[in-house]
Amino acid sequence: MNVVSGKVAFGIALIVLLVGGFVVYMKFFKKTTTVEKREKFRDLFIFFGPPACGKGTLAARLKDELKFISVSTGDVLRQNVAQETELGKKAQPLMAKGELVPDELINAMIRDWLEKQSATRSPIILDGYPRTVQQAKTLVEMLKGSKNNEFRLRIMRFTVSEQEAVDRIVCRVVCSNKSCQKVYSTKALKSKVEGICDVCGSPLSKRCDDTEDVIKKRFNDYMKSESEMLNFFKEAGVEIQTISAEQPMQKVFEAFKEVAGVNAISES
Ligand code: AMP
Repeated sequence: MNVVSGKVAFGIALIVLLVGGFVVYMKFFKKTTTVEKREKFRDLFIFFGPPACGKGTLAARLKDELKFISVSTGDVLRQNVAQETELGKKAQPLMAKGELVPDELINAMIRDWLEKQSATRSPIILDGYPRTVQQAKTLVEMLKGSKNNEFRLRIMRFTVSEQEAVDRIVCRVVCSNKSCQKVYSTKALKSKVEGICDVCGSPLSKRCDDTEDVIKKRFNDYMKSESEMLNFFKEAGVEIQTISAEQPMQKVFEAFKEVAGVNAISES
């Protein structure tokens, strides 16, 4: 009897020890991996998605609410067009036809922008870049050359049908102030005062490339280059995560936070 109860006590003590050890190990392990992740990597998200999938609106929300930093190559180009810079003069006729601006100009623009982002460790979003395999290759080289390989590349792909994209574009209006460019929809996301931007009070207008013909061309060209770029990144071993952008923006926002594990990022 004594031998049996001794064995039972030993068994219980062993289980308590094992469970306790496991809990302590998990706590320690979790802590060190989070610290390592925070110190070592800075997340750099590429937002892939056709025109009007809402990636610009999502990026703006992540900037406002979770302190992300983002760059939209389309927005920067439009600012250059408005300021009539050399880049703007070269880009304007191509943009109006829905054609791409040459890779060398865009790569130089992004290199320059990335170099200026070292003041914080905030996650970065690239919206509208890369748009070609050549740009994707250049980006990977740029990141390899960054200080201590600091970036962790993450790809978020937002999907929307062509019909939905066309419907959204037809209703899209944008703040005419080129340093604002907030996007509204005359159907789903109205400004408080019709035709006036909530943020800066400038008039809203339609983008000159937001016509049905141009959007169809941009959509189809985009889908072709997206699949080439995704193949390139798959071969490079980068994980691709897909989110449906047909759902309302709040749901897209929640899905992004879930998939990206954003709560952990925003704590760092
Ligand atoms: P978006 O605002 O992203 O729809 O871009 C508007 C236009 O800017 C595109 O139709 C292209 O003419 C040009 N553009 C934006 N990003 C790029 C890029 N990464 N490469 C080449 N052209 C671009």
